Amino acid sequence: MLWNESVDIVVIGSGFAGLSAAIEAAQAGCSVIVLEKRDFYGGNSWISGGVLAAVDIEIQQPYGIQDSTQQMFDDMMRAGRGINNPELVRLICSQSYSSLQWLKQDIGVEFMDRIDQFGGHSVPRCHSVIEIQGRNIINPLIKRAKQLGVDLRLNTSLQQLYQNQQTEITGVKLNNSQQTYNLKANKAVILASGGFSAEIKTTDTLATSLADSTAEVLHLAKAIGADLIDMEHIQLLPCASPDEQGRGIAPVFASYVVFPYGFMVDVNTGQRFVNEWTDRKTRADAMQALTQPAIGITDEQGLINAGEMIHQHMDDAVIQRFDNLSNLADYYAMPYPALQNTLNDYNKSIQQRNDVAFGKPITTNAKPLKSPFYALRLQPKAHSTMGGIRINSQAMVLNKQAQAIPNLYAAGEVCGGIHGISRLAACAITECLVFGRIAGQQAALQAYQK
Ligand SMILES: Cc1cc2nc3c(=O)[nH]c(=O)nc-3n(C[C@H](O)[C@H](O)[C@H](O)COP(=O)(O)OP(=O)(O)OC[C@H]3O[C@@H](n4cnc5c(N)ncnc54)[C@H](O)[C@@H]3O)c2cc1C
Repeated sequence: MLWNESVDIVVIGSGFAGLSAAIEAAQAGCSVIVLEKRDFYGGNSWISGGVLAAVDIEIQQPYGIQDSTQQMFDDMMRAGRGINNPELVRLICSQSYSSLQWLKQDIGVEFMDRIDQFGGHSVPRCHSVIEIQGRNIINPLIKRAKQLGVDLRLNTSLQQLYQNQQTEITGVKLNNSQQTYNLKANKAVILASGGFSAEIKTTDTLATSLADSTAEVLHLAKAIGADLIDMEHIQLLPCASPDEQGRGIAPVFASYVVFPYGFMVDVNTGQRFVNEWTDRKTRADAMQALTQPAIGITDEQGLINAGEMIHQHMDDAVIQRFDNLSNLADYYAMPYPALQNTLNDYNKSIQQRNDVAFGKPITTNAKPLKSPFYALRLQPKAHSTMGGIRINSQAMVLNKQAQAIPNLYAAGEVCGGIHGISRLAACAITECLVFGRIAGQQAALQAYQK
């Protein structure tokens, strides 16, 4: 093999997982090159909401929230329908607190002073980065990586993984706009290339910038013997709107206001059809069974409960304000009497603190809804992929015989088997941080000799 360049550790991808891995490896004294095929850093992590699930008793207890890593584990396994790898899920839950602290204290990421509950979680444990923008985590990670001397290269894509006769990974073939060249990895290669949502042709995708989330790294990993798992499970986000392209504002409005402080109805019947706060798969399946987008409804009190920040996530192209319920019903061509009944029943469940019809948890500050109302159309869009490379608890890539492929690690959405059939909301970032950091630390321990 003719090597053009060498480095201790090569990281493929500059999202949450890749940057966390790079920082840990550099901190352990390794030379690190991060390769990013796009012309900007961060991938889907950049466009994400930057909301992270973590058990943080200090923040939760003042609100009277009782939580534990076991409870988070149970929620993740329930959302994944039990096919998740429990060992990996346990690691995510038990290291969720330290990951959040790492971001705040070591990396300097700022979070909002709030704690939210999203669908499928049994208690509020979701921490929102300022402005609900993933880039507010990516930018500090890049800053830290650069401070540590990590060499970050844009417009450079992985073309091939090199393996010697002992099946050890020895380096990579790369391509940038000028040339194709061989980079030797003295210690290890870490795959952190994200999911493959762009390969999903049948459903609308959540973000136009997912267009580059392709599966080529999975093909390259498979070619050198990596086992791929759960490839058939795709997550649809049940809070996107057909009235805007890509992600837009609907997911924030629906998650922070409609689901906790309102309800969703079927246009044809004017009736609720699912627990709006259950896990994503249950909601997405129920919404897909409708013949038209669902209508999410909330009121002024919902906006107040969500806090001032919600006004930055409102746009009348997507969210409509109605003086009364009759106008709302007319606008969406819904049967008004049925909708009025639904509102009456829902308000009764708020007063009784018990949603008899669907079992939705009623939060302490939820109040009966009254005019004026706010509403939007909601429809699931492709969000993230559950399947990918099988790893062990040290983030080592496994082959079909469950043996580690020497010097090859993976972390983040490129991995499969962690979230099962469907990921619990806000657990992707926790996963990327936990396994990205483990991959970086473990790779640094490798003493690959030529
Ligand atoms: C709109 C949106 C909002 C979301 N919000 C949240 C949220 O609030 N909380 C949460 O937990 N999860 C959220 N998610 C999911 C979460 O953001 C992703 O699962 C996570 O960011 C994936 O991070 P990653 O590091 O694995 O991959 P990515 O962030 O996708 O990074 C992978 C990078 O690898 C690069 N790459 C790919 N192939 C190659 C190659 N051949 N050579 C070189 N580079 C390559 C890609 O260009 C990309 O930049 C959201 C997802 C979307 C789409």
